[in-house]
Parts: sequence; structure tokens; C-alpha cells
Amino acid sequence: MSEQKKLVSLVVPVYFEEECIMQFIKEVSVVFSTLPYNYEFVFVDDGSMDNTVSLIKRAAVTNLQIKLIEFSYNHGKQAAVTAAIKHAKGDYLLYMDPDLQDPPVEIPRFLEEIQKGFDLVFGVRSEKKDNPMNRMLSSIFWWVLEKFTGLQIPRGLAVMRIFNRKFADRFINYPEQNRFIEGIFMHIGLKRSTIVISQRERFAGVSKFNFKRKMRLAFDAIFDFSELPLKVTVKIGFIMVFISILSLIGIFTARMFFIHFQTGWPSLFSIILGAAGLQLFFTGIFGIYIGRIYREVKGRPLYSIKEVTNIEES
Ligand code: UDP
Ligand code: MG
Repeated sequence: MSEQKKLVSLVVPVYFEEECIMQFIKEVSVVFSTLPYNYEFVFVDDGSMDNTVSLIKRAAVTNLQIKLIEFSYNHGKQAAVTAAIKHAKGDYLLYMDPDLQDPPVEIPRFLEEIQKGFDLVFGVRSEKKDNPMNRMLSSIFWWVLEKFTGLQIPRGLAVMRIFNRKFADRFINYPEQNRFIEGIFMHIGLKRSTIVISQRERFAGVSKFNFKRKMRLAFDAIFDFSELPLKVTVKIGFIMVFISILSLIGIFTARMFFIHFQTGWPSLFSIILGAAGLQLFFTGIFGIYIGRIYREVKGRPLYSIKEVTNIEES
């Protein structure tokens, strides 16, 4: 009987989560105890230096369904999630953070929804438990992203989502080094659905995504999923050339009609400065793309694994 049960893999990046991790395992296990599914945890430790790893390892001694991949050092959440998805064996993969902001009690609803024949079910937050400043920044972020990339991203996207094996395999086949996860998810497309889920405060500990990290993510998103900055460069360059031709014609005509005027050095100086600045700015944009291309071309492994627990090394 249990042979026929489908396997659900929880793919979970962890980074300094010693205060949350045991509570997370407990809450998820309670939920699954009443469900007709087998489950496994695929934790990827992204270089924590607290007790996260030792707590997981201790739990993994008695529970072989707890699997752990330890990175040698911090590679970032995107790489951690990718590693977890690569190592998950499940028919369904449930992606969650261990801080319990998206509560495990919602798991049955995700399973129910994906059974309806979807490849991916996103959780969407009814309300975000965050301060007004962060909320404003994140709504600007998603708005800009949609404008720049044309990706149709559901509003109020939560971390929690479930997808099937087919979707997971597609994800793994994305070869890119610069991995903006939400973008890749949207790019895969397939049949998807959303459900509204409740939200809690982080169970314990603090968010690792401060303003700087969030900005870096926004930056990644725009440069990895959009060529708009390059196109804008061409447009603005064209407009500048057009204006300068117009002004040259203007000066020439004025001279032709013997209008005498004093050349303004300060304005000339500021125009030169402005033009040089713009050139430097756009050269910088090219530089950013070239840097990213360089990283792709090198094709280095996304992460370096130090040790695995309850996983056969291949
Ligand atoms: N995380 C990670 N590597 C990092 C930073 C964060 O694997 O370099 C994990 C972290 O353990 C958590 C998830 O990413 O599971 C989201 O982080 P957090 O809850 O701090 O961010 P927030 O929910 O506030 O966006
Ligand atoms: Mg969180």
C-alpha cells in the first residue's frame, strides 16, 4: 500500500536558521502524519556558522528522510535552492523557507491544488507581514521587473510553492549561472495556478535579506531577464546626436543671418560634462552585461558541496 504513495520533497535552503529549523521539521512532520504521502526533507545549508548543521545532522541520524547538503561556504539562496531541487527525488517538490513565514498547515491545500493537473502552484500572500517601507520597496521592485522583463509575475508572491517532476526537470535544465529563480520559474511557464495562503511572522531569527541584498536581487533580475537597458542606451544616444545636430544647424543659421552672440563657456562645459557622463554610464551598462556573459562562458559549477548526509554521492 505504502508503495503507491507519492513522494513529496521539501526543498529548503537554510542559512543561520538554528532557532527555526527544529520547529520547522516538527510542524511539517505533524502535517504529513495525516496525509497519504511519503515525504523527505532536502535541506541545503548555505554555509551557516551556527548550530543549524549540527541540529539537522542529529535529527538525520534517526530520520533517514532528512537529507542534507552542505555548501563549503555561502553561495546565496539561488544556488542553494537549485542544489536542493537537483537532489530531490520526489514526484512533487515543495519549496519552502524554514522560518515558518509560510505556514506548513497550508501544505494539504497545495497538494490538493496540484492534483487538479497543474505543473506549478504558487502561494500568494493575502497580506504581507512586513514593515511599510519594505512593502513599498517590494511593490516597486515587482512593478519595475514586470515592466522591464515582461514576465507575468503574480502579485504578492510567497516563497511557498509546489511543482511536479516535469517542472523540476525543466528547472534543472536551465544552464545559466546568473539564476534569478522567480524569473526562471515564470520562464518555464507550463500549467500553473495560485492559491492564497496565510502568513505569519518569522518564527525566530532575522531576515538575511537586508536592503543591499534586496537591491542586488533586483539588479540580477533586471540584467538577467531584460535587454531593455541596452536598448535604452541606443535610444538616448540617438536622441543626443539628434539634439546636437539641431543645435549645430541653429548656430550655423544664426551666424548666416549675422546675429552676434557670445559663446557661453559655462554652458559648454556642462554639456561636455553631461555628455561624457552619459557615455561613461552607458559604457558601464555594456560592462555589466559583458561581466555577466563572462561568468556564463566560464561555466563554473554553481556551488561547491562539502558534505552530504543521507544522500548517496554520485
Ligand atoms: N538563505 C540562504 N542563503 C543566503 C540567505 C538566505 O540560503 O545567503 C535562506 C534563508 O535561510 C531562508 C531563505 O533563504 O531560508 C530566505 O531568507 P530570509 O527568511 O532571511 O529572507 P526573507 O524571508 O526576509 O526574504
Ligand atoms: Mg523569510
